[in-house]
Amino acid sequence: MGPKGLGEEFTMKATVSEECIGCGLCESTCDAVFSIGDEGVAVAIEEDIPEEYEDAAKEAEEGCPVGAITVE
Ligand code: SF4
Repeated sequence: MGPKGLGEEFTMKATVSEECIGCGLCESTCDAVFSIGDEGVAVAIEEDIPEEYEDAAKEAEEGCPVGAITVE
């Protein structure tokens, strides 16, 4: 058995909690990951965040006024 995790890719996922007030900031920061859904609140893509959007997704997490975004 080899060392665990070697060669595995680290991936990030984004989630939006019910704290979201639908301000739209995350969508303008990173519309590849976040969008305002039918309910008027943000939704994140279900898939892993594409690597090229990880920084923008992190920025959206930091910018959310109510801390509704988790990117990890
Ligand atoms: Fe909701 Fe935060 Fe996105 Fe605003 S920035 S739409 S409060 S998740």
